[in-house]
Amino acid sequence: MKFKFGKNKYVGYNVYSMKKYVDKKRITFTIIVTILVIFTLILIGYYAISNIIMLKNIDKQNQKLIEISNELKEKEEEKQKRWEENKNNIEHIYSSETKRVFLSFDDGPSENTETILNILETYGIKANFFVLGSRVEAMPDKVKEIYEKGNFIGNHGYSHVYEQIYASPQAVLDEYTKTDNAIKQALNKNDFKSQLFRFPGGLVRRKICRN
Ligand SMILES: [Zn+2]
Repeated sequence: MKFKFGKNKYVGYNVYSMKKYVDKKRITFTIIVTILVIFTLILIGYYAISNIIMLKNIDKQNQKLIEISNELKEKEEEKQKRWEENKNNIEHIYSSETKRVFLSFDDGPSENTETILNILETYGIKANFFVLGSRVEAMPDKVKEIYEKGNFIGNHGYSHVYEQIYASPQAVLDEYTKTDNAIKQALNKNDFKSQLFRFPGGLVRRKICRN
C-alpha cells in the first residue's frame, strides 16, 4: 500500500512498516517469554512432584524402619521376660508349691547341643544349660542360640579339671569369673550374670565350703 502526500509521501508507508516491524518483534518476544515461562513452570512442577514422591518414599521407608525396630524391641522384651521368669523359677525352686521338673545339661556347648535344642523346641520345653567357659569360647554361637531360644544358662566353671578347680577357693572363683566373662562375650551382654554355679564333679570339698 502506498500513500502519497507531497513531500512526505513515504511517511505513512514508513510508519505502517515500522508498526508492522514492532508488532513482529513484540510477538516474537511474547512467544519466547511464554515458552520460557511454560518451560520454567514445567521444570518447577517436575521438581515439586519428584520431591513429593521422594519425600513419600522416605516416609514409607522410615515407617518400615520404625516397624522393624518396634518388632525387634518386642522380641527383645519377650526374651527378657522369659529369662526373668526362668530366673524366678530357679530362685524359688525349693519354696515353690507347684511341682516342677527342671532339666539341665552340663559340660556344653558341644556338637549335641543342636539336637537337644531341637528336641526341647519340639516339645516346647525350656532347660538349663550349665556351660563350661572353655567350651563357650570354642562355640560362642551355640551359647547365643541356647539363650535366644529362651533357655537358662548356668556356670559350670572353666576347665572341668578337678585338680585345677579345687586347688584353692580362689581357683574356684577364678573359674567362675572366667566362665561368666566368656558367656558375656558370647551373648554380647555385658550385664550377664549367671545365677547358678554347678560344681564340676558334683562335689563341694570341705576346704572350699569352709572358705
Ligand atoms: Zn560336668
